[in-house]
Amino acid sequence: PAATRQILQIQDLTVSFDGFKALNGLNFSLDEGELRVVIGPNGAGKTTFLDVLTGKVKPTKGRVLFKGKDLIKLKEYQISNLGIGRKFQTPRVYQNLSPRQNLELSFNPNKGVFSTLLGKRDLTDKIDALLETIGLTHKDRIPAGLLSHGEKQWLEIGMVIAQDPNLLLLDECVAGMTDKETEATGELIQSLAKDHTIVVIEHDMVFVRQIARKVTVLHQGALLCEGSFEEVKNDPRVIEVYLGS
Ligand code: ADP
Repeated sequence: PAATRQILQIQDLTVSFDGFKALNGLNFSLDEGELRVVIGPNGAGKTTFLDVLTGKVKPTKGRVLFKGKDLIKLKEYQISNLGIGRKFQTPRVYQNLSPRQNLELSFNPNKGVFSTLLGKRDLTDKIDALLETIGLTHKDRIPAGLLSHGEKQWLEIGMVIAQDPNLLLLDECVAGMTDKETEATGELIQSLAKDHTIVVIEHDMVFVRQIARKVTVLHQGALLCEGSFEEVKNDPRVIEVYLGS
């Protein structure tokens, strides 16, 4: 088997807000092709961690290497151009446009792979395939505003995938979903994980169990432990911080 490559290396990452350390010496690394779930009680620093990865928040200390490049000095759009794509917790789709039109707008011409080099036919094929992946083929031409909450989330995941990210970040994407939608989202993420590197931040433990291969637990801005879902679930340190929160 081919040797796995680390896509992300984070060392001693610290983020202070007015002296309060939202992240406090976090170490983290991720292999290319991995699906990683990051959990932790409220206030553990999960959102801040993603904010650093997208350049929204700048650390006080530490190193963040993405494909060997230091992200710390880069602006948000530069990091996005390097291929880090984030789907936020709340949907940000264009409500008046159809899922098909939303996806069309998301294929990123800057990367040269799609809109510019592909003919209209190829673009249509790509969009058809993506609609199929996110389960919206049958609703491709209605206004996105009429989709259910879950369907909007899937559309937005599709919009990030259309940009062909090297690393996909998902922020509590099943919040507010029905059980059925949550399960379908798990299947979607498993299927995307076949050819994408993904970091998921999550609260819903049933969902974590469904998708997780390796889980990272944050606590008070640092790494508490890592392992399979079963390993971390039974770790006394994890039980303690969850019971205490
Ligand atoms: P999580 O996503 O794990 O719930 P966060 O990353 O949102 O945790 O927050 C970690 C801690 O940092 C929390 O105590 C939060 O109140 C604090 N925090 C986050 N953002 C800011 C900010 N912009 N200013 C001050 N404190 C913040």
